Amino acid sequence: MSDSTPAPRLLDLHPRDWPAWFEQRGAPGFQGRNAARWVFRRGATSWEEMTDLPAGLRAQLEAEQPLITAVCEARSEAEDGAVKLLLRLPDGASVEAVGMPGTMGRTLCLSSQVGCAVRCAFCASGMEGVERNLSRAEILEQALYLRREQGEFQRIVMMGMGEPGHNLDAVLAALDSLIDPEGMDFAARRITLSTVGPKGALEQIARWGKSINLALSVHAPDDTLRHELVPGVRKRSLAETLDEADRLFAATGREYTVEYVLLAGVNDGNEQASALAAQLRGRRCHINLIPYNPVPEFGFQRPELPDQEAFTARLRQAGLSVTLRRSLGRQTDAACGQLRRRQRNSPPRPRFSA
Ligand code: SF4
Repeated sequence: MSDSTPAPRLLDLHPRDWPAWFEQRGAPGFQGRNAARWVFRRGATSWEEMTDLPAGLRAQLEAEQPLITAVCEARSEAEDGAVKLLLRLPDGASVEAVGMPGTMGRTLCLSSQVGCAVRCAFCASGMEGVERNLSRAEILEQALYLRREQGEFQRIVMMGMGEPGHNLDAVLAALDSLIDPEGMDFAARRITLSTVGPKGALEQIARWGKSINLALSVHAPDDTLRHELVPGVRKRSLAETLDEADRLFAATGREYTVEYVLLAGVNDGNEQASALAAQLRGRRCHINLIPYNPVPEFGFQRPELPDQEAFTARLRQAGLSVTLRRSLGRQTDAACGQLRRRQRNSPPRPRFSA
């Protein structure tokens, strides 16, 4: 992985440190508090919009420190209204950010890395490994960009490109900016972090102490199959990871979700449903079954609906709490990493911004 994470910017600081940053530039600290309010509460994405800051200071900051540096390179919209943006960062790296409509309001799906080292066998994001971590600012920019384009949102999921557990310092710092009253004041319980559970990650989240939701990517009922489907966890046993998730529940009081992508003929059989039920019995979790969004290069298929329902029913008969998810964004480029992959493999085309 490259260590070329960009130089720190204002968005890399906790909002409570913005006044000191302003003071270091000879401006009064209260202007830093005002700027944080403009960005996190009022949706400003440029200094120019902050009309209560002196015009000279705004012009200077716009030249030195543009708030949003990402440019929208491509956009795809699914029939169900899910909108995926491919955002190009100043160093040429690109990440996906998605806004998804739902009955409970809009959900933002944010990326944590450029690429992913976990290399799940069914995921386009991990096909070429990881390029680099995203900074706190680059994670926040995705939320600010999506809000500017699509309006307010009710939920955030860290489920885009990358494994948040491999970039946890920046991910938790970005979530701090979103949760803190000096920042967006967004409720922690409306944020979900999805992870395969790398060593130490769940303990770090427990020590951080905010009541976000955990989605544990499991995808197989036993270690042999899980290590094939999720190669990045080869040194970890599923039971050990689930035990850590149980301890996180004990620390936060929040049940976790077990994410399980249903792959036809691979992990969707009766025996596998029974084995998964045995792994999860007695644990404080809810199971989220996700029928696979096919990526042509991988050859996996989505199970037929009766097979999806049979798998669901077997888990329910075992007394487990299960949701069979309607798949948002089910069309070309809908699965994680597909839009970026298509764009990388196609000739350059003119950029546009939102
Ligand atoms: S599914 Fe998630 S963890 Fe697996 S390769 Fe894709 S982005 Fe990484």
